[in-house]
Amino acid sequence: MTKIISRGAEAIILEKKEGNKEVILKQRIKKSYRIPEIDEKLRKYRTRTEARIMEKLYGIVNAPKIIKVDENKREIEMEFINGKRLSDHLDELANKESLFIQIGEQVAKLHDNGIIHGDLTTSNMILKDNKVYFIDFGLAFPSQKIEDKAVDLHLLRQALEAKHFRDWHSLFNAVKEGYKKSKNHEEVIKRFEKVEKRGRYKSQI
Ligand code: AMP
Repeated sequence: MTKIISRGAEAIILEKKEGNKEVILKQRIKKSYRIPEIDEKLRKYRTRTEARIMEKLYGIVNAPKIIKVDENKREIEMEFINGKRLSDHLDELANKESLFIQIGEQVAKLHDNGIIHGDLTTSNMILKDNKVYFIDFGLAFPSQKIEDKAVDLHLLRQALEAKHFRDWHSLFNAVKEGYKKSKNHEEVIKRFEKVEKRGRYKSQI
């Protein structure tokens, strides 16, 4: 049995059940506004990079295990993380601070391994057995640049402010605490503060 669980701008997410085994299928959809040959290449390339990044990260950060990649079908089959989407359940959780310290530690590991997530939001995090899993590496890319790491944190900070406006300050402080595990944390946080100032300036003009 296969059912659609999400239909995003880039991909359709399907849940496939075979007996008691559940897997996720991520299929990159055609974009009619792109020239077909370019669209085919782009979807193939993105499927490949997303799968490679997730394979590299498996066992380093909490992320779904890749089961199968079909570049021709532009499809990734991965482990189903049977938990709660953090964005939907945050308000009811008691141990928020420790979860966000954990998120900071996970981002630190991601960055120390030269990967930028590109879309760090609580909608892309699943909580299972008190562990936060990162999903959706569709915008992830390899980089060791301090600027890219700082922008990754800036996007997370913005996402927290937008979605969890009441306690985003304390949640993000916990992220920064956890991020201290990164070998470059001082440089990245310094740059992050510059990026934040740039953002504030831009929003005033
Ligand atoms: P995505 O387009 O990758 O952000 O996925 C959209 C939604 O599908 C997510 O918000 C999750 O609810 C769900 N999802 C995606 N991948 C997984 C996974 N590996 N395990 C469980 N749920 C997932």
